[in-house]
Amino acid sequence: MKKHGSMLRIGILALQGAFIDHSKILKQLGASVVEVRKSEQLDHIDGLIIPGGESTSIGLIAKRWGLIEPLRDWVQAGKPIWGTCAGMVLLAERIEGQKAEGQPLLGGLDVTVNRNYFGRQADSFETLLHTPQVPALDDSSEFCSAIFIRAPVITATGTAVESLASLSAADGDMLIVAVRQKSILATAFHPELTDDTRWHQLFLDMVCESTKLCPI
Ligand code: GLN
Repeated sequence: MKKHGSMLRIGILALQGAFIDHSKILKQLGASVVEVRKSEQLDHIDGLIIPGGESTSIGLIAKRWGLIEPLRDWVQAGKPIWGTCAGMVLLAERIEGQKAEGQPLLGGLDVTVNRNYFGRQADSFETLLHTPQVPALDDSSEFCSAIFIRAPVITATGTAVESLASLSAADGDMLIVAVRQKSILATAFHPELTDDTRWHQLFLDMVCESTKLCPI
């Protein structure tokens, strides 16, 4: 397996949710990890992960701690960012199923997200995703195991958004569950909860590409 994360400093937004599991995998791939709670820390990292958890809570805490604008600036500047599950909701330009009073979003990812698409039917499930179009994922298998926990799905995408994985719904509709838009990666599921490190490797590849800090 490729391993070239050693020069990279990856921040994980550590306000609420599943940030510790991301950290373990990134360290395994050789990256150094910073738990981000203050805006100043954004100046010292090369890529940022917004973890799963509860997007309303993460958004409210980020607002209270003055992080919304600095995080929006990060996305707008085209710096590498990966949102998993709640993180994907926060990065969406548009969401369905949000609370009536709304919730703070960062935006930047030109998609419509249904926040609790699977939550209505089942709280969590694990399935295999077919991902042949993801370069970092095709070295050992074109499938990856994906854990969905009260997961969102993407119901519409803009033209600059590339779909990386989808599921078929009971009614036959395709549900998009992983996308990339330039330096933004978003997954509806939780790669940090499986042994498969390839999504993290893909994100490190994106950070390498964007920062030119390591040879690919
Ligand atoms: N549906 C949740 C939300 O809106 C996300 C769930 C998760 O991150 N596991 O935030």
